[in-house]
Amino acid sequence: MYSLKDVLKKLYKTKSPSGFEGETASVIAEIAESAGLSCELDALGNLIVRRPGVGKKVLIDAHMDTTGFLATYVDEKGFIRFDALGGLSVAELHNTPIVFLNGTRGTVSYEQKTEIKDRKISSMFIDIGADSAESAKKHVLPGDAAIFAGELCELSENRICAPYLDNRLGCAIALYTIINLKNCEYDIYAVFSVQEEVGCRGARTAAYLSDADFAIVLDVTDSCDSPGFDGYGETKLSGGTAIKIMDKAVIAHPTIVSAMIECAEKNKIPYQRDIVTAGGTDGGSIHLTQKGIPTGGISVPVRYMHSPCEIADMSDVENSAKLLSELLETQAIIF
Ligand SMILES: [Zn+2]
Repeated sequence: MYSLKDVLKKLYKTKSPSGFEGETASVIAEIAESAGLSCELDALGNLIVRRPGVGKKVLIDAHMDTTGFLATYVDEKGFIRFDALGGLSVAELHNTPIVFLNGTRGTVSYEQKTEIKDRKISSMFIDIGADSAESAKKHVLPGDAAIFAGELCELSENRICAPYLDNRLGCAIALYTIINLKNCEYDIYAVFSVQEEVGCRGARTAAYLSDADFAIVLDVTDSCDSPGFDGYGETKLSGGTAIKIMDKAVIAHPTIVSAMIECAEKNKIPYQRDIVTAGGTDGGSIHLTQKGIPTGGISVPVRYMHSPCEIADMSDVENSAKLLSELLETQAIIF
């Protein structure tokens, strides 16, 4: 029997930049199948985990992919130019260690004489220690993908730090919850989606196929409690699970928002209202599929999103799993 943290640690043994999610899908399928759930991959690589029931069909979605780097060109000295997979901020990339999917290590650096304010992805490169194009190409070819090199670290006060808490956390919460459900009548169609970071692509086709009555998206949200974030929002670490009200891609369905708030209050699960004024989640694609799928979201507040050092609080992770579990076991959302 896996704990929530065990599931999270298992996911950290895999790499899954957008478009390269196969390794993570295999680990999720292995855990789900060992709990007796059936799994299949769809045409785009989304992993569908089924927990059949007699009630309404619920789409639970968590994206498996992370941001990353894609090698585009190797110069004559062996330095590798790259493009971003998803939203990478130049400010996070100076002299940052990365690792290619084949294990090749390197660091991202920048053209030394370029002013900080003028630096762009196109003026940065990856140094793998090669001294010629020929030696570099023994390890990395254009089209190879890389991610931040970094491990899951435990900090003080039950907090954790790692790259890609977005969205290892959502995947761990969704998987842990569906394998531990008791007495759930909903017909659960859990999607571990591909290519969210490059435009919520996988969720679009998976949601179409699901024919679900409603959807719940598990992801992370900005924690607005570090210096300089004042006035941006009220979500914070240790403040509880974040119930989505709105992001730039979806306004959560009011029936789902009220059911989540009522369920959290009834079960004394700490929660906060999540209003995101920049960025979105798979919910943006899902709610516009077919005739429209009412969609809500449960998120975990994370500091320093899309950086190599995202920070979250395990109590928020656990409270998110608790809320999802209560919602499903008590069939709290009614359409
Ligand atoms: Zn995400």
